[in-house]
Amino acid sequence: MRIGILGGGQLGRMLALAGYPLGHTFRFLEPKRPSPVDGLGEVVRAAYDDLDAVREFGRDLDVVTYEFENVPDESARLLQETVPVYPPASALRMSQDRLAEKQTFDQLDIPTAAYHPVDTKDDLEEGLARIGLPAVLKTRRFGYDGKGQRVLRERADVDDAWDALSGHPLLLERFVTFSRELSIVGVRAVDGSKVFYPLVENVHERGILRLTTAPAPLVGDHLQAVAERYVVALMDAVEYVGVLALELFQDGDELLANEMAPRVHNSGHWTQDGAGVSQFENHVRAITRAPLGSTALRGHAAMLNLIGDVPPSESVLALDRAHLHLYDKAPRPDRKLGHVNVVGSDPGEVRAVLEELEVLVRS
Ligand code: AMP
Repeated sequence: MRIGILGGGQLGRMLALAGYPLGHTFRFLEPKRPSPVDGLGEVVRAAYDDLDAVREFGRDLDVVTYEFENVPDESARLLQETVPVYPPASALRMSQDRLAEKQTFDQLDIPTAAYHPVDTKDDLEEGLARIGLPAVLKTRRFGYDGKGQRVLRERADVDDAWDALSGHPLLLERFVTFSRELSIVGVRAVDGSKVFYPLVENVHERGILRLTTAPAPLVGDHLQAVAERYVVALMDAVEYVGVLALELFQDGDELLANEMAPRVHNSGHWTQDGAGVSQFENHVRAITRAPLGSTALRGHAAMLNLIGDVPPSESVLALDRAHLHLYDKAPRPDRKLGHVNVVGSDPGEVRAVLEELEVLVRS
């Protein structure tokens, strides 16, 4: 099939790399040059809200998907008139606004941290009275990698946070003293069938995902079942098609939903080497109406993001059990440039390789 991808970052690149072996071809809509998808198919260089370019991009495609959630609603709707767009635009809209997302979680009985919408300073005071400190103040839209948010630990932090973020619609959330961050990736096919990867544990640094461990240590069947129930509810509510990721806080025995992503997700990159079929291939399978593939683990796995800087390829490639994935991006502080997947037969084997990688990355 001819697949169109809105966005030409590393996720688009890895979707195409997974789709070519299945006989598909790819076209991308990506305003920036250079981009990680250069050389992987036709690239239409235009803004995502350039409706003429969007129409041209959609011509003769069999299906359209996206690799980031801030696709303008109007562009998704325009494409939908002539070509199936998966996941559905309703999932996009939900994930673009933290308030709509939280309200959807509520409707579906998916627990979250207490929250309060904030448009004015009075709303903020009202929210603080309800939720208390510590809390997190976040922009409702366009936040990623911890950008657009401030932690309010004490009263003195409130004015600074307000000065930094006011002018945008905001959301105040209770600060969750989580024991750890987990996430789950699920896939839904057009016929409603679903598969799930195991819950994974994520470690962030300065708001950016750094390390994912798969499966998350010490997750019983119960937690996995709870996480799957949340994803099933979200998917069935909108007749979802494709990969959906849900980020969770573990607070004691409870799993609180933080946010969902209607796309392949950084915490699912380990599946390229650590699962039967990767999240990228499964997304391509779902949107092309092919049977979904196995999500079974191939042992124990971890994924280390290469952020800001990349160690010499030769030294990573020299490590047994390490699989290097580079995105063809120029180095810049805090930029995700690639990742390394490590797969071993037990957690100790994986940890030993990670320790060697950490030395390479930090030197
Ligand atoms: P987000 O953009 O909402 O995914 O937030 C980025 C990161 O900030 C999360 O992965 C958490 O580490 C942290 N964070 C976000 N919201 C909260 C919260 N309500 N309580 C504690 N930590 C949070």
